[in-house]
Amino acid sequence: MHIGFLGLGNMGAPMARNLLKAGHRLSVFDLSDTAVADLVEAGATEAASPAALAQGDVEVIITMLPAATHVKSVYLGANGLLANVQPGVLLIDSSTIDPLSAREVAKVALAQGNPMLDAPVSGGTGGAAAGTLTFMVGGAPSAFEHAQPILATMGKNIVHCGGAGNGQVTKVANNMLLGISMIGVAEAMALGVALGMDASVLAGVINTSSGRCWSSDTYNPFPGVMDNVPAARGYSGGFGTDLMLKDLDLATEAAKHARQPVLLGATAQQLYQSFSQQGHGALDFSAIINLYRKQEA
Ligand code: NAD
Repeated sequence: MHIGFLGLGNMGAPMARNLLKAGHRLSVFDLSDTAVADLVEAGATEAASPAALAQGDVEVIITMLPAATHVKSVYLGANGLLANVQPGVLLIDSSTIDPLSAREVAKVALAQGNPMLDAPVSGGTGGAAAGTLTFMVGGAPSAFEHAQPILATMGKNIVHCGGAGNGQVTKVANNMLLGISMIGVAEAMALGVALGMDASVLAGVINTSSGRCWSSDTYNPFPGVMDNVPAARGYSGGFGTDLMLKDLDLATEAAKHARQPVLLGATAQQLYQSFSQQGHGALDFSAIINLYRKQEA
C-alpha cells in the first residue's frame, strides 16, 4: 500500500520505519531535512510539501505531529492536506491533541469525502521502535476496519474507542489518571520512608495490597526499589515531565470545555508545572517524588 507519513520525530520516525519493514511504499514529509534524509535512506520517498504528498497516489496519510496547532495547519492550511487530497483517502492523526480540535479537523475531512481517525498512542519511543504501541482510535467503524491492519504493523493493541475524538478522550483520561497515581505513589513512598520504613519492604507490601497500581509495581518512583526504571538511573529516559504536563494541560482544558470537575487532575497539572518550572521538565515524570524528598547537597 502507498502510505504518506508526516512528522518523523521521536515517535513518527520509528513508526514509519515499521511501515517500511512491513512492505508498504512510503512518501514522507517533515520540516527537518535530517529526519527526512534518515527515512529516505531506509527506503522512503521524499515529498516536497504536505500538498505534494497529498497530490500523489497515496491511499492513506498518517500524521504524528507535536500539538494541535501543527495538526490544524498541516490539515486545514491553504497548502495543507485537505486542500489537496483525493476524496476517499483515509487520514489518520496519531498526534496527541485535544478532543475538540480532533473533532473539528475530522468534521472538515469527512465533509469533503475523506474518512478520518484520531489514533493517539501510548507506549513511548520504545513501543514505537518495537511496534508494540497501543492505538486509541476514534472515528467511523468502517474507517477503523480499513486502518486496523496498517496500525497493527506499528502496534500491538488497536482499540476502537467510539466516534471522532474518542481516541483523544481515552488518551487524556488514561494519562490524567497516570499523572495522579504517580503522585499518590510518590507521596506514600516518601511518607513511609520518612517514618522509618525500608522503601523496598514498603513497596513490596503496597504491591500485594490495595494500594497497588502500575506506578507502584511497574514504574516505582523511589530509587533502589526497582531495576530498569527511570528512578534507577537518575530519572533519565522514560516519559518526560514536560510530556506528562502537556497531557495534563489537554485533560484540564478539555474538562473546562465540558464543565467537568477534575480536582485531582488540576492539582497534578500544577505539581508537574511547578516541577517543570524548577528546571526538571526533561526528567522522567516519576522524578516528581523529588518534591517530597530532601535533596542531598
Ligand atoms: P517530536 O517533536 O520528536 O516530533 C515531531 C516531528 O514533527 C518533528 O520531526 C517536527 O519536525 C515535525 N513537524 C513539526 N511541525 C511540522 C509540520 N508543520 N509539518 C511536518 N512536520 C512537522 O515529537 P514526538 O515525541 O515524536 O511526539 C509526537 C506526538 O506523539 C506528540 O503529539 C506527542 O505528545 C505524542 N506522544 C509522544 C510520546 C513520546 O514518548 N515521545 C508518547 C506518546 C505520544
